[in-house]
Amino acid sequence: MSASRAAHAPPLRLAVVGSGPSGFYAASRVLQSFDRSKGTGDDGVEVHMFERLPTPFGLVRYGVAPDHPEVKNVENKFTEVASDPRFRFFGNVCVTASNDEPPPPGSLSVDITIPQLAPYYTHILFAYGASESRPLGIPGSGPKELRNVFSALKFVEWYNGHPDAHNPANDDEFSLNRVDGSKIRRAALIGAGNVALDVARVLLRQSASAPVDESLAKTDVPSPVLDALRTWKVEEVNLYVRRDAAHLAFTNKELREMLNLPHVAFRPVPEDQLDPAIQQVSTLTEAGQKRAMTRLLGQLKKGSKLSYAQNEAHIPRWGLHLLRSPAALHGTDDPVPALRSVDWNVTEIGADNRAVIKGEQVSSDEDLLISSVGYRSVPLRGEKDTTMQVPFDKTRYVIPNIRNRVVDDEGKVQPGMFVSGWLATGPVGVIVSTMFDAFGVADELVKEWRAGVQGTEPPPTLCAQVGIREALREAPEALRGQRTVSYDQWLAIDRAERDRGQALGKSREKFLTVAEMLRVIE
Ligand code: NAP
Repeated sequence: MSASRAAHAPPLRLAVVGSGPSGFYAASRVLQSFDRSKGTGDDGVEVHMFERLPTPFGLVRYGVAPDHPEVKNVENKFTEVASDPRFRFFGNVCVTASNDEPPPPGSLSVDITIPQLAPYYTHILFAYGASESRPLGIPGSGPKELRNVFSALKFVEWYNGHPDAHNPANDDEFSLNRVDGSKIRRAALIGAGNVALDVARVLLRQSASAPVDESLAKTDVPSPVLDALRTWKVEEVNLYVRRDAAHLAFTNKELREMLNLPHVAFRPVPEDQLDPAIQQVSTLTEAGQKRAMTRLLGQLKKGSKLSYAQNEAHIPRWGLHLLRSPAALHGTDDPVPALRSVDWNVTEIGADNRAVIKGEQVSSDEDLLISSVGYRSVPLRGEKDTTMQVPFDKTRYVIPNIRNRVVDDEGKVQPGMFVSGWLATGPVGVIVSTMFDAFGVADELVKEWRAGVQGTEPPPTLCAQVGIREALREAPEALRGQRTVSYDQWLAIDRAERDRGQALGKSREKFLTVAEMLRVIE
């Protein structure tokens, strides 16, 4: 390596696609790595973040439950990152693979393709998360087959005011806004993860049947959603779980919150189901897991603050139906049928701890079904383009990668392309684990860059793929004069939402459509 090469090395310019925790933590770590005050040399690094919506923060804004506002404090840290002069936010910009596929109906975002971005960046980090729910794939569960059947993703987006869930172009008899709450008494949830508990909590807190729990009214749940939920008469929420109590996916803190809900009772898990699980967990060899599961099962054994027996005449209540996996959904005879009942396969635990269907079925009448069996990622829109393909694994629903470097079907590294967060790993882990993952990706990226800059071979870059050695130091041409949203403009939207909230005695009143958000900054 020559000193002159390092001296004339082109600066690192990173495009981050997605503004959730993964994108923001990676951006902050990259910028920190070039902190002049730490003696690591400021090499002209710049980070540009692209976000499909005018609003940043991804799942922090649209996924975290409204009654967990403390989790949303990370937004302050992200705003600090955004105040770095080397950082720039481009909201309302959808990064696509090509222009082959039109945007969804009602979309107001500006499209930019990977080939259009490439000349401006040495690297691109895909961090756009998991925006689809895993399908159930059983009769009756297809899109728009039955009313009152939703994925947890849709329900969470609805109560968090996500513009996709409130897009007038999607409003039809299958939308959450049109649910006749007076008919919703029994709700079935499929899955036993923390998302299922978030959904159950919201249903039980705000239902018309709860004597008094207006705690959501002060949060950022949109007023129209609160009004709708107040008409729902949920008396019973049941979580249907395909494995036994030893394999529940939710965690202790979230279970405690459910068991302590005022005016809500938990139906005890039968002893002949709980005791064998406690016994099984006591033999676990991994100490942390053993401790966590022992505590979890202990909580289940103790039950809710409000005892179920005491609450028999009261409503609402919740419970677990273990060893049940969904088999088929049945509808009413209405012209647009609504959910009437669900068939469940009775399962047992197989040798490899999987749920095995025994052959026997049971049915239950249900008014509402929310399937909470996990999220999955999607490829970039217009993925048919072959000039600069972004690989996507359609069996695991992730961008294939080796140590977060994007690779094609044959394992060949795509120069300058990285992936982080749920898009790289699948939809598991909380914000802290996403943070560590993002830091690791940023460190790899910077390490590779430095090795290239100091070595004899130039660092592998995105811009080199389109024949450009030094990435252009400006905003991409395709975005000039377009309706993109800067970070300062987002802060104006943020202020307007807080002001609207203050007038209503709540933390924030979100804008529910992109059009309203853009109007604030016109
Ligand atoms: P999850 O924790 O992976 O839980 C998914 C649940 O769905 C599991 O009980 C799983 O059962 C079940 N399931 C999957 N496929 C199924 C099928 N075909 N039929 C029936 N059941 C099926 O996913 P999540 O609840 O969506 O949460 C995602 C991540 O976000 C988790 O890491 C979670 O901890 C985190 N999160 C955290 C919080 C919080 O900290 N408060 C809040 C929300 C989310 P099996 O175990 O049998 O596969």
